[in-house]
Amino acid sequence: MNNNIHDYIIVGAGMSGVAFARLLQMSGVQNFILLESAAQPGGLCRSQRVGGHVIDTGGGHFLCTKHEEVYRFIFSHLPQEEFVRHERVSKVRVRGHEIDYPIESNLWQLPDGLRDDYLGSVAGNGEARGLPPPQTFEAWIRWKLGDRIAEDYMLPYNRKVWGVEPAEMDIDWLHKIPRLDVGEIVEACRRRSADPAKMPSHAYFYYPRHGGFQRVFDALLKPVADRVRCGEAVDSIEPSAGGLVVNGRHVGRRVINTAPWPAITGALPLSARGRAALARLRHSGLAVSLHESAAAASSRAHWIYEPAPELRHHRDFLIGNYAADSAPDGVMRETNLLRHAPDATALATFRNEHAYPVPSLGWAEAIALVLREAAEHGVHGLGRWGQWQYFNSDVCIHEAMKLAERLGHTAWKPSPG
Ligand SMILES: Cc1cc2nc3c(=O)[nH]c(=O)nc-3n(C[C@H](O)[C@H](O)[C@H](O)COP(=O)(O)OP(=O)(O)OC[C@H]3O[C@@H](n4cnc5c(N)ncnc54)[C@H](O)[C@@H]3O)c2cc1C
Repeated sequence: MNNNIHDYIIVGAGMSGVAFARLLQMSGVQNFILLESAAQPGGLCRSQRVGGHVIDTGGGHFLCTKHEEVYRFIFSHLPQEEFVRHERVSKVRVRGHEIDYPIESNLWQLPDGLRDDYLGSVAGNGEARGLPPPQTFEAWIRWKLGDRIAEDYMLPYNRKVWGVEPAEMDIDWLHKIPRLDVGEIVEACRRRSADPAKMPSHAYFYYPRHGGFQRVFDALLKPVADRVRCGEAVDSIEPSAGGLVVNGRHVGRRVINTAPWPAITGALPLSARGRAALARLRHSGLAVSLHESAAAASSRAHWIYEPAPELRHHRDFLIGNYAADSAPDGVMRETNLLRHAPDATALATFRNEHAYPVPSLGWAEAIALVLREAAEHGVHGLGRWGQWQYFNSDVCIHEAMKLAERLGHTAWKPSPG
């Protein structure tokens, strides 16, 4: 056993773990290590060059945040001039037509018959009839958008992404999708233009000029890189009189967990309810494959949503339209691992076993219980897996800031004025 007692042992060196480590360091805490199971740090925020293309191996990543302090933190590590700012152009394919996202703001781009069909269905939806919002994702989509858009787009698309029936999913993550009411949908059709104020997120975004999204991660990693121990999977955290013993050999006063909980809780004394809650946490995996397409080179879109059930993938990213150093014909394709099959047209494929924490029914109570019990032993959850939430990396950084503050480390904050 290593006799050095660390102030912090951080499990996982993805964006959450590294952001937290950097905040500790900026606050004057030096005695910490990060244990990372993979051969390299970065988690979902990694990029690779393949031929003339830059591919984000965890799927399409962009920087956009509502937290100004997160921009300040990132830009103080990788200057803003290193990014290109893009106005978002994303498309939805529905019944053979490609229209702008979000579909409900852009129904006027469809042929008249299909537009009227969707509008009629929207006008008769549950919300328009004054019914209360339902509690499952499928029922909520039908209530919000009517059956026709639900069945042609939202339900098949979400089945593809999550690999879970929308009827088994909760509704407490829906701030991620647009929320127009019937009047606003009809008004957008009449005006034949979308209201820019109704874009849910990423109306614009930043992307590094060179090197893919990983450059953001690398900039945060650099000052703490010597604390990262790669190739060490954590599979046990055991409370003892001297502190928390990790993998039987590292001792820490506190552990910050950013890895999926089920793998690391072996020795943690959780209650039977806590273990049952762990078993309820669901996730989905993602294959990211690289293709070349002449059509990509002539499109303006940054990415395209693909709901058609007969196609395996659910999203295409036209990399050359946002990565300045990537060839114009590159397409990065996302497919749920459950639907993925080897594809001879792929120039490269990357598998991510943990891509999305699934907001399945009851997930919020389940993770809250796990977090409460783990915290009683000095183990705190952080980030997409540590908090089991559909967080983007900017939110992971913001959560790292909140946790650092809660644990009394505030010197990273710029002084007022
Ligand atoms: C398809 C897709 C698109 C996305 N788009 C965006 C976007 O546009 N913008 C954005 O900001 N964010 C985006 N995100 C979200 C972003 O990737 C995550 O929020 C962020 O990378 C999560 O960081 P993390 O450190 O919490 O988790 P991870 O990146 O998953 O890191 C966890 C780390 O823990 C390690 N680990 C796992 N098990 C163990 C163990 N037992 N012991 C030790 N280490 C372990 C893993 O190897 C990994 O390195 C996207 C995600 C996906 C999947």
